[in-house]
Amino acid sequence: MSLPSSEHPPTGTETFLTKITIPTSREGAVQLDEADPLRRFRDAFDLPAGVIYLDGNSLGPPPRAALTRLQKTAADEWGRDLIRSWNSASWFDMPKSCGAKIANLIGAPPDDVVVADSVSINLFKLAAALNRKNGGAIAVFENEFPTDSYILQGLAALTGAELRTLKPTDNPFADDIDLLVVSVVDYKTAAISDIADMEVKAAAAGVAIIWDLSHATGLLPLDLARDGANYAVGCGYKYLNGGPGAPAFIYARGSAGALDQPLTGWMGHADPFAFDNTYRPAGDARRFVCGTPPILSLSSLDAALEVFDDVALHDIASKAQGLGDLFLARALAFGLETVSPLPGAPRGGHVSLRYDHGYEVVQALIARGVIGDFRAPDLMRFGFSPMYLSYADIWDAADALIDVLQTEEWRKPEFARRDNVT
Ligand SMILES: *Cc1c(COP(=O)(O)O)cnc(C)c1O
Repeated sequence: MSLPSSEHPPTGTETFLTKITIPTSREGAVQLDEADPLRRFRDAFDLPAGVIYLDGNSLGPPPRAALTRLQKTAADEWGRDLIRSWNSASWFDMPKSCGAKIANLIGAPPDDVVVADSVSINLFKLAAALNRKNGGAIAVFENEFPTDSYILQGLAALTGAELRTLKPTDNPFADDIDLLVVSVVDYKTAAISDIADMEVKAAAAGVAIIWDLSHATGLLPLDLARDGANYAVGCGYKYLNGGPGAPAFIYARGSAGALDQPLTGWMGHADPFAFDNTYRPAGDARRFVCGTPPILSLSSLDAALEVFDDVALHDIASKAQGLGDLFLARALAFGLETVSPLPGAPRGGHVSLRYDHGYEVVQALIARGVIGDFRAPDLMRFGFSPMYLSYADIWDAADALIDVLQTEEWRKPEFARRDNVT
């Protein structure tokens, strides 16, 4: 586990990356793979043969350890030990113990992170608590991941708080704004926000920032405490590979006694089994838990985090950048357009290409086993989770993309059919 501190400058600066020279042939890609310090992690994942999975930024694939743990939790802890497992298997402690593992990945004190609910619900709890404490307007950029805006709209409707939707060029540190919700890695472009720089400006303007770490956790060498970040939410099923619908997490610095969140369920009570009539919040981050935790999902996430035990986040971020640079360089050479930072410029773990028939192209690629996704209205998005992808995989995926476009295979009618999830 790497806990990046002084040797790693803030995210958003180029220097957190070890640069590679972008290969210009498949042989060059294979050579990079031979020197890759993350190569040994491929076998930790259970991926089907014949698939190049470029969607780990949206749903991470199963680590073998997570599948094994799910079996054990279901058969031994639930099936055999039954309700005793709340104590004997430490189910009751899991929101905190799993939170402490995530704290290690984001540079937060272990007691300040708890695993619970979804990102959406955690954002509601945290934004409501901060708005109740500080008052003032809440701000969100118009291109933020929609659920973040939706949740703030719901909160504003409930409490009467003012919600300000900002254009990308607007100043989020204006006088009357007290709370800003912003992603560290943009879900469409993968542009990275400079946490430390924004926190300095926020502190000067009296603005609290809630960072959405969904596309950053398990990918970037985050160090929230060092960078002055006090509040965050993040996702368990993307780069953390916790499984579909795995619970999310919430970070509130020194949360003991500081924030009153509105979803005051019994599992956030200081002493749930006192069955006291009056709510009293737990003294630490457990106050952000509401109801009974989803133990099967939580177990899967907890085991999935073992993959990060002896890996340097700096190596993960550097390789994600290298894989993305390679894919993007080939796409641009072919004449495609991108909304993502160009090769060499700091970027999160994915790349988005703009193409009018992007939906059909992505479907044609999926039919070939190259799995990416589509984000309306016209973005083809490809994620480069470095734990199980090789440079050769990326070379082959770029070949497939170019071939689907050159042959116009995407025009086949079956690739135009739309499903619920894109
Ligand atoms: C994936 C993602 C979410 C997910 O929210 P859930 O409520 O857990 O479904 C939220 N915000 C961002 C920026 C995301 O990328």
